[in-house]
Amino acid sequence: MLEPLNFDVAIIGGGIAGVSIARELSQYSINVAVIDMHDDVGLESTSTNHNLVCQGGDSLSFRPGTLHAELNIKSIPLWPKLADELNFPLKRVGGLWLIRDKADFKRYLRLYSRAFKSSLEPNAPYYIPEGSFQPLEFVNRKQLLDMEPYVMPNALGALHDPNLCIIDPIKVAKALAENAKANGVEFLLKQEVTKIERQGITYSIYTRQGLIIKSTFVINASGIEVDRVAEMVSARNFSIVPLKGTLTDFDEEVGKLISHEVHVLPRMEDLPHVKAVLPNIYGFARSGIYLELTYKSDKAVREEAVNHNIKVAKELFPEIPFERHIVKSFTGFMAYTNADTGWHDFVVDIPDYVPNWINIVLGPAGVSASPMLGKKVIELLIQSGLRLEPKKGFDPRARRGVSS
Ligand SMILES: Cc1cc2nc3c(=O)[nH]c(=O)nc-3n(C[C@H](O)[C@H](O)[C@H](O)COP(=O)(O)OP(=O)(O)OC[C@H]3O[C@@H](n4cnc5c(N)ncnc54)[C@H](O)[C@@H]3O)c2cc1C
Repeated sequence: MLEPLNFDVAIIGGGIAGVSIARELSQYSINVAVIDMHDDVGLESTSTNHNLVCQGGDSLSFRPGTLHAELNIKSIPLWPKLADELNFPLKRVGGLWLIRDKADFKRYLRLYSRAFKSSLEPNAPYYIPEGSFQPLEFVNRKQLLDMEPYVMPNALGALHDPNLCIIDPIKVAKALAENAKANGVEFLLKQEVTKIERQGITYSIYTRQGLIIKSTFVINASGIEVDRVAEMVSARNFSIVPLKGTLTDFDEEVGKLISHEVHVLPRMEDLPHVKAVLPNIYGFARSGIYLELTYKSDKAVREEAVNHNIKVAKELFPEIPFERHIVKSFTGFMAYTNADTGWHDFVVDIPDYVPNWINIVLGPAGVSASPMLGKKVIELLIQSGLRLEPKKGFDPRARRGVSS
């Protein structure tokens, strides 16, 4: 039997949530471990998404008053600093939301006026810090075609959000983890958590591979497995449904013809799917999202999902022969809350009766909100009595490899 390893904070999950929190905690003089079942970080939902960093325009469509909206908006000014410190590409491509008729225009007019207010009024529920947001603008058909020459010719114009960014989320997760490691965080990879026991305010975490990790605080950042892990200590005070998304990538021949994230509002008959095409930072194009409610184990790429993604790409860019340039299609899962009401929120919460335990549920737009997530978790840890003394010698740029 191995000797237990002792930590002040154990983070279960090395996705964007876990590594963002780890990096934030690495500024303080405490012992922190990140546990993940894979041999590297960022290999689940963090690696299978749209690669967008919401930078204001799109986040303004999130439900007011939710943590989903708050953490996204507050993360906006944090991204450029993070990209500079950790040296990863953050490319401002901008978004074009196509207007086909009056109904589209009316929807976007509401978003436009919300964006306008949010960048002016410090007391607005959605205040976007000055200097971190360029105003949204309506563009007419000619301006639209100048910006995206191959876009659907029957679009009347578009709402242009110049702020929207793309990243490589795996690269970002790795950079955060490597910086956390260089600042003293331990990474216990290839360790699958199978059992957790609570003795008062101390937790013993057992892995399939035989490790025992003792910790005073536990952060459950296990992505789509968050409910199963919470159940191990009766700490599940939320419900999620697994929302599966299928995305399709096209090669550079096609990628070089698309410069913005371009999307149209789905009509009734298109729901619940998303209709968007965007470039990625390596020059590919990505289309989707075909959405399904299904079992977590159902990772299959279905033909109808790929066909949907090609159809969407061709609807938005009719002249581009996407079907001849497919590189791959893949699926990813989002943990969706409030499926009954139809709007989503994050969970960043200490359940009643389970002290020193924090559940994290991100779901849609979780990567975009991750810089502020770390700061929110620090607040909760301090409220729970963890003493955090700044660490002498913390280096926001240092790197040390984590994969095993
Ligand atoms: C199709 C799609 C498109 C999306 N597009 C965007 C987008 O454009 N922008 C955006 O901001 N967000 C987007 N999202 C959402 C975003 O991907 C998620 O919010 C985010 O990746 C969630 O991160 P996470 O760290 O919570 O989960 P994950 O990345 O899934 O990480 C959880 C980690 O926990 C580990 N784990 C689980 N169980 C255990 C266990 N028992 N023991 C040890 N380790 C365990 C896993 O190995 C994994 O590494 C999209 C999601 C999907 C599916």
